[in-house]
This record gives sequence, C-alpha cells and structure tokens, in this order.
Amino acid sequence: MGRTKEQDAVVIGASIAGLCAARVLSDHYRQVIVFERDELPSAPAQRAAVPQGRHVHLLMARGAAEFDGLFPGLLDDMVAAGVPMLENRPDCIHFGAAGHVLGTDHTLRNEFTAYVPSRPHLEWQIRRRVEAIPNVQIRHVGVAEPCYSPAEERVTGVLLDANDVESAEDTAVPADLVVDATGRGTRLPVWLQQWGFERPPEETVDVGIGYASQQVRIPAGLIEEKVVVAGACREQPLGLGMLYYEDHTWTVTTFGIAKVEPPQRFTEMCALADDILPAHVSAALRAGTPVGDVAFHKYPVSRWRRYDKLSRFPTGIIPFGDAVVSFNPTFGQGMTMSSIQARNLRTVLECGDSDIATRLAKATAKTTYPVWTMTAIGDQVLHLAPGPKPWWYGPVGGLFDQFLGAAETDPVLAEWFLRRFSLLDSLYMVPSPTLVSRTVRHNMRLWWAQRAHAKAG
Ligand SMILES: Cc1cc2nc3c(=O)[nH]c(=O)nc-3n(C[C@H](O)[C@H](O)[C@H](O)COP(=O)(O)OP(=O)(O)OC[C@H]3O[C@@H](n4cnc5c(N)ncnc54)[C@H](O)[C@@H]3O)c2cc1C
Repeated sequence: MGRTKEQDAVVIGASIAGLCAARVLSDHYRQVIVFERDELPSAPAQRAAVPQGRHVHLLMARGAAEFDGLFPGLLDDMVAAGVPMLENRPDCIHFGAAGHVLGTDHTLRNEFTAYVPSRPHLEWQIRRRVEAIPNVQIRHVGVAEPCYSPAEERVTGVLLDANDVESAEDTAVPADLVVDATGRGTRLPVWLQQWGFERPPEETVDVGIGYASQQVRIPAGLIEEKVVVAGACREQPLGLGMLYYEDHTWTVTTFGIAKVEPPQRFTEMCALADDILPAHVSAALRAGTPVGDVAFHKYPVSRWRRYDKLSRFPTGIIPFGDAVVSFNPTFGQGMTMSSIQARNLRTVLECGDSDIATRLAKATAKTTYPVWTMTAIGDQVLHLAPGPKPWWYGPVGGLFDQFLGAAETDPVLAEWFLRRFSLLDSLYMVPSPTLVSRTVRHNMRLWWAQRAHAKAG
C-alpha cells in the first residue's frame, strides 16, 4: 500500500487509542473516519463505554510527552484548564510500590514533570483536537463487523450497525485500512477465525483486581501531594490511589489484588488509608466530604494478544491499543502504551512498506515486551497472581524487592525507579551493574547499622 494520500482509513472506537491512531493516519490517508458507538460528550464528562474514567487514572510522564508530540499545545491547554502540573515536584508525589515508599523527597537530579488530568478531561482535550483535523471525521455510529473479501484475503471496509444508520445502503463503508481500536472486548480474534485464520495466541495474568472509587472534596491546604499511590504487596493485598484533578476534587480508589475485595464504603476507605498512607494524608481524607456514589469495577485478567506470532493475517486491518494488550490497570500504563503504539504506527507508515499489519505487530511486540514482563513479574511474584511463570521471574522479583527496599532511603535509586516506572528514559526496568552494586552496598550498610543498633540497644 503506497503512502500517496489517495486511500481512505476507518478507525473503530474513539477512545484514547482510536483517537491517537486517527491523528497518525490523517498524515497518510486522504480521509479518516472514526466510528464510535458511545455518545461522545461535547465537554469533559464520563462515558458509559469508559467505566475506568470513574477510577484513579494516572497519566505517565512519558504518555504526557507522547500525547503532546501528537497534539502540540495539549499540555499547555490542560494546565490552562486547571490540570495540576508537577514540575520537578517530587514532594507532590507519594509513591509506594510493593510495600516500599520511594524516598524521592526533594532530591531529583533530572527534570521530571507530571500532569494529573482526569480521564474525561484528557480524552476530551484529545478528541477536540482530532475533530479539528480537516480530513478526519468522528461519527456516532457503531460498527457491526469489518467487510472481508475471501478472494483477496483482505478487509475492504466496515459494515455499520443497521440501527445507527438511516437506510440499508448506508451500512457498508469501504476503506483501504481498518483500525480495530475497540478495546479489551475486541472481536477481531473471532472474526479472524470466521475468515479462516488462526486466532492470536494469548498471554494472560490472572490479576483478579477489584476497584472501588469515591470522589472526595478535601479542604485546601491539608495535603501538598497531588499523586498518592500505595500499591499492594504480598503482605497487604489492598492498595489505595488518590489523584487531585482539575475540578478540585480527589478521586480515591481502593483496590484489591488476587480477588481480595477492596473496601467499599468511604469509612472503610479511610480505615485502609490509616493503615497504609502517611498520617497527614489519611487525616486529610477523613476531613474530606464524599461526593456522589462509590463506583466499582472488576478487572480479572491482563491480556496480551500476540498478533506478532501469527504467520497469516489478512491485509487491510490492524488491531490497536487495548485490543492488542491490556495491562494491569494499577500500574497506570495503558494510555501511555497506546501513545507508544501510535509512535510505532507513524514509523511503519513513514517507511512505506505495504505490509502494515506485520510490521506494526512486530514493532508493538518489541515495545510491549519489557513493560508486560515487568508488570507480570510484579503481579506473579510480588502481588500473588496465580498461574505458571518462567523460572527466572522469582529471582528477578526478589532482586526488585531488594532494589525497592534500598530506594526507600537512597534517592538515586528512587529517582531511577520513578523515571523508569513512568516509562521515561527506557521501557526496560533493568538497572545497570553500577546501580545493582549500589543497591547491594546500600542494603549491606543498612543491615550493619541495624545490627549495631540492636547490639547497642
Ligand atoms: C479500571 C481501569 C483503570 C485504568 N487505569 C489506567 C490508568 O491509571 N492509566 C492508564 O494509562 N491507563 C489505564 N487504564 C487503561 C486505559 O483506560 C486504556 O489503555 C485506554 O483507554 C486505551 O484503551 P483503548 O482506546 O484501546 O480502548 P477503550 O478505552 O476500551 O475504548 C474502546 C472504544 O471503542 C468503542 N467501541 C467498541 N466497540 C465498538 C464498535 N463495534 N463500534 C464502534 N465503537 C466501538 C467503545 O465504545 C470505546 O469508546 C485503565 C483501564 C481500566 C479498565
């Protein structure tokens, strides 16, 4: 397929991934139509098809930078609209991972900027930019299925939901490329099977996560932090996240891992906060006023559909975003990984190769592997997720526990972890030999100090 801008593309799904895909495609296709079956609000608001918007939804620093690359001016506009920007302010971040609280304090050596938009606000900011692209249209219509031509072994367009269009003739929309950005519930594996192809093999981790979230108004001045995360660990299967959003409310999400139910009432959430958050934060939460009802969500399984492993795949369609890989949401990586897939798509389209699907699947596998592996090790070694795992997950998870222990009091290690966790610098969470020996020396020093203290006392 040439990149002569004479062809048309269709995107199914106007959530974060679909919108990013549309932005990239607009540079290479004559016309891009995005079909979305959910009502799209004209201002920031929750959407029925994005229930995760009611829970803590963290934008990683890398994702913010990638989105701003796709939509220049996005971050400035968000800040102008009141989205908190933490410019080199680690004191605004309380970050607990696997039972260790990172000792970042005021010690960052490299500039680190984080943004804290609510999910509805971020999606709206991105959507209105996509709507303004002259050759992109977003239509409130559901897609029933792609049109497939067995003779050509290619997807030739999409068939719209008959209920959403005025006459039967309007249901078929031809396209040279169809992007499946329908999220975790994608039906592409089923369609592939119907068309005579293999379904993609899947990697899964049974994370068994339950979310319960409450919006809370907390009197000003009680908390300096804007991002509060206390992850779960082996000893404590419950975690809690609090984000301060542009509407001056906090979203407070409690979660349980390995099928442990999270606290469901505000008073129970406060009790958990007393156990796992610094005293001033839990006191501030207790001083807060709950707004609206508690929202619940279950996320049983992280799933990576390995399209890169298929030897046969139809032309004219590509899976994108959560339709390829859906990560444990407590790590907050999904939107950022969609933005990285958009970067991959741009690279593939720029190189002009006609086999877009294969190239994109391989590029996405390369960027997914390090992040998937890191979260799978966290889940299966430090978070009690059941199921078979490679033998080396255990030792690597153990080393990470040591590393995080040292990062509680060594600011260099803490900063390294914060940046890598935010997917900056590299997607690989592999410390250099120098950092490993620093960890060992640091932990040995702590151990000797404790021993000496115990002897003296
Ligand atoms: C509980 C939870 C918490 C999360 N927390 C975070 C977080 O903190 N940070 C983070 O970065 N990520 C988080 N994520 C992941 C993040 O929300 C996704 O990675 C991100 O939304 C990208 O997903 P997507 O666009 O591929 O799919 P989705 O967001 O699922 O959107 C799919 C879209 O496709 C539409 N659609 C589906 N079928 C059709 C059809 N047939 N026709 C037309 N339209 C259709 C849907 O209506 C929907 O709008 C979380 C996810 C969950 C579930």
